[in-house]
Amino acid sequence: MQIQQLDKEYIAGTYKRADVVFTKGKGSLLWDENGKEYIDLGTGIAVNGLGVADDGWVEAVTAQLTRLPHASNLYFTSPQAELAQTLCARTGMKKVFFGNSGAEANEAAIKCARKYAFDIYGDASHSTIITLKNSFHGRTVTTLAATGQDVFHTKFEPFTPGFVYATANDLDSVKRLSEENDCCAVMMELVQGEGGVCSLDEDFVHGVEALCREKNMLLVIDEVQTGNGRCGALYAYMRYGIQPDIVSTAKGLAGGLPMGATLLGEKVQNTLDAGSHGSTFGGNPVCAAGALYVLSQIDEALLQSVREKSAYICETLQNTKGVKSVSGLGLMLGIETEKPAGEIVNACREKGVVCLTAKTKVRLLPALNIPMEQLEKAIAILKEVIEQ
Ligand SMILES: *Cc1c(COP(=O)(O)O)cnc(C)c1O
Repeated sequence: MQIQQLDKEYIAGTYKRADVVFTKGKGSLLWDENGKEYIDLGTGIAVNGLGVADDGWVEAVTAQLTRLPHASNLYFTSPQAELAQTLCARTGMKKVFFGNSGAEANEAAIKCARKYAFDIYGDASHSTIITLKNSFHGRTVTTLAATGQDVFHTKFEPFTPGFVYATANDLDSVKRLSEENDCCAVMMELVQGEGGVCSLDEDFVHGVEALCREKNMLLVIDEVQTGNGRCGALYAYMRYGIQPDIVSTAKGLAGGLPMGATLLGEKVQNTLDAGSHGSTFGGNPVCAAGALYVLSQIDEALLQSVREKSAYICETLQNTKGVKSVSGLGLMLGIETEKPAGEIVNACREKGVVCLTAKTKVRLLPALNIPMEQLEKAIAILKEVIEQ
């Protein structure tokens, strides 16, 4: 109780927290202050991709922590350089900018897209970026402007201008906006996470890619939530068979430490030049060591198991009474239920299963390596709660 009182008294009231104090975790298990055990299907919102305190991850991170925790970007450090090399080798992207969060990864992507156009046209005439309605791109003033939901566009005016919003899975709406505005980029999530775990149609995504090529707009894919193995491929764009010009990612990248990355393709590899952008903590050696370890674990075998576990969850829940639909990709799933999602999440937590909501759905983001036995147990509890 004392922790909750301190929190209420001293922490800005931006979060509506659930009534639980977690004190430790291991893999896909969490424990609260009373020693109650939970199976974790939320991974701190897609962050703890290998579960909590994975042994190899702890070793990699602590080795770097005791050697050199921080140096600043005034100097070269090896984990950052190796991580950038690994990310490029595994994606075909050419260069990486490191930040500390999803919002920052998107800020870098937006700055890069605008500067790319500025360098071509010599002015800001093509600064407009098309994003999608129901998207989520972050909480800074600019990434809120990029977020295509009216609820986010109040009380903090003026927002950064230059964003227009197309309708997901409606290629004509993207075409229309690209004709009405001089645009430098289209930016979108392939599975809208906060928007309710809605995956985009393949045809739409391929249509947007073709339109981007035709109109020399950059294709920017926000993989903050979908990336790093979450959707059953290293990045979700790989499942769609497209090649973006810019990919932003964060959440699961460093396995529980704050890190964002903006991956830059061929067209924009030299756009962010000296002095054009920066971040004091960006590419921090400890976070980079954690990310290197995470990437070393995301191999074809793990991705295959992510796809299999996804199929298991979908099959089980699609045949559950009280489930209206199951959406998403890989281990990023949304369950539309007859009962309110919040009620289900609370009842699950009572019974020792942690899951999340996204809009009106129950959202599942289990660890990529969750043991099958724990997953089966948790899904059985979730099923029981939904059916009741
Ligand atoms: C979470 C999220 C962000 C914001 O990331 P932060 O680390 O909270 O800044 C941006 N885009 C998407 C798709 C996200 O899911």
